[in-house]
Amino acid sequence: MWNRVEQTAREVFGTFGFGEIRPPIFEPTELFARAVGGETDIVSKEMYSFTDRHEKLELPKVMGDYGGFIEKVEKLYDSGEIPRTNNNDLLLTRAKTHWKQYVEHATTGPFVAEGFENLFRMVIAVNALQLGPELSLRPEATASVCRAYIEHNMHAWPQPVKLYYTGPMFRRERPQKGRYRQFYQIGAEVLETLQQGQGGAKDIPKDAAVDAEVIEMVMAFFGRLELQGVQLEINSIGHNAPDCRRGYVEKLKAALVEVKDKLGEDSRRRIETNPLRVLDSKLEHEQAIIATLPRIGDHLCDDCAKHYRELKRQLNLREVKYEENWRLVRGLDYYMRTTFEITAQGLGSQNAVCGGGRYDGLVELLGGPPTKGIGFAIGEDRLMLSLQEAGKGGVAQGRDVYIAWMGEKAQATAIAAARKLRDAGLRAELPPVEQKLGKALGQADKLGARYALILGEDEVVSGQWTLKTLADGSQKKMGEAELVEFLKGARALSG
Ligand code: AMP
Repeated sequence: MWNRVEQTAREVFGTFGFGEIRPPIFEPTELFARAVGGETDIVSKEMYSFTDRHEKLELPKVMGDYGGFIEKVEKLYDSGEIPRTNNNDLLLTRAKTHWKQYVEHATTGPFVAEGFENLFRMVIAVNALQLGPELSLRPEATASVCRAYIEHNMHAWPQPVKLYYTGPMFRRERPQKGRYRQFYQIGAEVLETLQQGQGGAKDIPKDAAVDAEVIEMVMAFFGRLELQGVQLEINSIGHNAPDCRRGYVEKLKAALVEVKDKLGEDSRRRIETNPLRVLDSKLEHEQAIIATLPRIGDHLCDDCAKHYRELKRQLNLREVKYEENWRLVRGLDYYMRTTFEITAQGLGSQNAVCGGGRYDGLVELLGGPPTKGIGFAIGEDRLMLSLQEAGKGGVAQGRDVYIAWMGEKAQATAIAAARKLRDAGLRAELPPVEQKLGKALGQADKLGARYALILGEDEVVSGQWTLKTLADGSQKKMGEAELVEFLKGARALSG
C-alpha cells in the first residue's frame, strides 16, 4: 500500500511536470533553526539533534595527553574549525584554567584533593565541548530542498523548478494515532528565482495560478487514491509589512490583551510570543472568544487581497472546491499569502493530511537569490490510515497465474513458461518442487491466483497446455504463445 500511494504520487506529480529530489535525512541543525524558525516548537523542542565527532580530534585516553589535546582544540577553535559558540568559548576557558591549576598542583605540591578537583572539572569541561558540527534529523524537507536549490545553482535551470520528495521526517512528539516520532511525508515545492524585471504586482496573476495548480495537483492525487471526505481550506496571511500582516498582528494583539483574562495559559503566553498561533487553539472555551477577534482578510494590503481573489478565481476555473478559513495561519515571517490545509475522514483529532503555503522569502533567507516558493507536505501515515478506514486500502497481492507442474519432464517446461510469463509482466508463481494437483490448486487459491496453469507430461508432449480459471473451475487448452496473450488480456481487463 505504501508502494501504491507513492507510485500514484510519482505518476500524478509527473504529469504536472515535477521531478523527484532526494534530500538527505540529516542536515546541520542551523539550517532548520533558520528555515523553520528557532522559536517554533518543531525546532526548540521536537528535533532529534546530536553533535558529530570532529574528524581531526579524538578524546585522550590517558590523563597526560589532555594538555596537548586542549592546545589542539584551542588552535582549531581559533581557526573556526570547531564551532565558535558561547558555550564552547566558556568551556574551553574552563578546561584551560583547570588544567593549568592541576599541573601546578601536581608539580609544586603534594598531590592533594584540590588537584583532583581541578582534574575532574577539566575533564567535565572537555567532554562538554561541542567539537564537531551540530546535526539534526530532518523534521521537514522544505529547508533541505531550498538548501539544495541554492547549493546546486538551480536558479540557472529553466524556471520554475518543480520538485517532489517522499521520505521519513522526525519530530519528538507524544505518539498517538496519526502522530508519530518518525513519520512519512510526500511533499512538493515550486521554486522560481526572480529574473530581471520580474516581481511586484504584475506577477500576481501568475503567482496565484501557480498556487492554484499546486493545490489542484494535491487534490488530483487524493482523487486518484479515492481518499474520502477530503476538505480543502484556504486562507491568505498577507505579507510581512506594516500595511498588511504586521499591522493586523498589532490589532490582533490589542484585541487579545482585552480578552486576556478569558484565555487559557498557552494563549495568554502567545499574545506576546506569537499571537497568530492563538487562532490555532482547539480549546473549547476559547472558541467563542476567537470568533470575535479581528480577521486578517479585513487587513490585507491591496496586492495581497488581489492575489487572494485571483487564487479563488483560479481554483474555481480548475473546479477545485474549497472553504475559506480565516484562522488558518503560519507563525513565520517568510510565509506569505496563500496557506492551505486538507483534512480527510477517519482520523479523529489528527485529521490534517496536508498543509502548504507560499514562502517567497525563504531561499533568500538561506543565502540564495530572491526566489518565490510554494509547496506542501502530505502526512503519508495519515493518508494511509484514512484510506484503510474507508476500505480503500486494498492492494492486489494475488498472482495472475500459479504454475502447477507434475513430473520431472514438466519442470523444464514450467521454468521456461514462468520466464515467458514474467517477461510479459505477469505475476507467475512457480512452486520449487513438484506438487500433487490437489495441493497445487489449494496453494493457488490461498495465494489469490486467478488462473492455474497445469503442466503434466501430456501437456509437455502435446504443447497444448491446460489453463484453469480458479473462480469457476472451467478449463481450456492453449499453446504457449496464445496463453501469454490470453493472460495479458485478462490482466489488462482487471486493471
Ligand atoms: P507540517 O510539516 O507540520 O505542515 O505537516 C504536514 C503534514 O504532515 C500534516 O498535515 C500531517 O499530515 C503530517 N504530520 C506532521 N507531523 C506528523 C507526525 N508527528 N506524525 C504523523 N504525521 C505528521
